[in-house]
Amino acid sequence: MIVVLKNNATDVDVNEIKDKITKLGCDVHESRGSDYHFLVLVGDTNSIDASSLTIYECVEKIIFDKEPYKKSNRLYHPDDTIVKIGDKKIGDKKLAIIAGPCSVESKEQLLSVAESVKMSGAGFLRGGAFKPRTSPYSFQGLELEGLDLLKIAREKTGLPIVTEITSTNYIDRFVEEVDVIQVGARNMQNYDLLKQLGKTNKPILLKRGFSATIEELLMSAEYIMAGGNENVILCERGIRTFENYTRNTLDLSAIPVIKKLSHLPVIVDPSHSTGLWWLVEPLAKAAIAVGADGLIIEVHNDPENALCDGGQSIKPKRFDELMKTLSKLAEIENRTI
Ligand code: PEP
Ligand code: MN
Repeated sequence: MIVVLKNNATDVDVNEIKDKITKLGCDVHESRGSDYHFLVLVGDTNSIDASSLTIYECVEKIIFDKEPYKKSNRLYHPDDTIVKIGDKKIGDKKLAIIAGPCSVESKEQLLSVAESVKMSGAGFLRGGAFKPRTSPYSFQGLELEGLDLLKIAREKTGLPIVTEITSTNYIDRFVEEVDVIQVGARNMQNYDLLKQLGKTNKPILLKRGFSATIEELLMSAEYIMAGGNENVILCERGIRTFENYTRNTLDLSAIPVIKKLSHLPVIVDPSHSTGLWWLVEPLAKAAIAVGADGLIIEVHNDPENALCDGGQSIKPKRFDELMKTLSKLAEIENRTI
């Protein structure tokens, strides 16, 4: 339920209405822009009689919304959200390019890739320290040692680090040491983890689950935002379909759909969505063309011997060429890289 206020609503009136809503058992989220001012009711709105609010002179109208997601809904927040990470932004005109290896394997590997992607113009360094693998016998990541290596790479390159959290165990360390905390596809519906992340104010990169609908993705974002953390970046990383030539099927239409439904920034992962290094370039280009706010791309200096996802990783030289191509495309989309 949304209470649309008139332009001349005074603070006294608005506070009175907010108090009333709170007493009726709902939370209120006030949204105000140059040409809009409204109150979004979050909680069980069924118990609220709309006529108890329309009696106020300053109430223009009441809108009954049908979407279950509130804080992530564009209806309540018409302007795009821009997530700030130090002096960088995601969701702004400049595209966010996150690049690096699937997993942190060694100091040499990480520094070599980090330095090359930085030279090519990447804005962020990715690298998994904790790896949620399908098989328990596959490489599980260097864990805390990997986190330490990421910090060294950040120190050397100045690139903010993006890395995946797989449980609530190390949440304090992630909050302390990581710039953007990634929640992977496998954990998109780990509600306990989402709730804990909601209590922090760290930027969260939330990846879409393999079988999650767009609404389910937005509801997962809602878990984080309901706790007070509005710094959420969504990521389309491919979904499971009957097609098995590619690892997943990149749902390109999800980007404009999410942009319509939500104000949150959306980036695309062309690496996990295809599983094939030679499809990274065409799909990265397509992602920019459909309005993505950035990309997360796996880059490896020796993909043939990578401990994880070598087949979908591009080499630094190819990444460099890709950045040049993307910069021309970005211009057409009125963005920069
Ligand atoms: C990753 O980014 O390394 C990863 C495991 O991605 P996803 O959760 O999308 O599979
Ligand atoms: Mn990977």
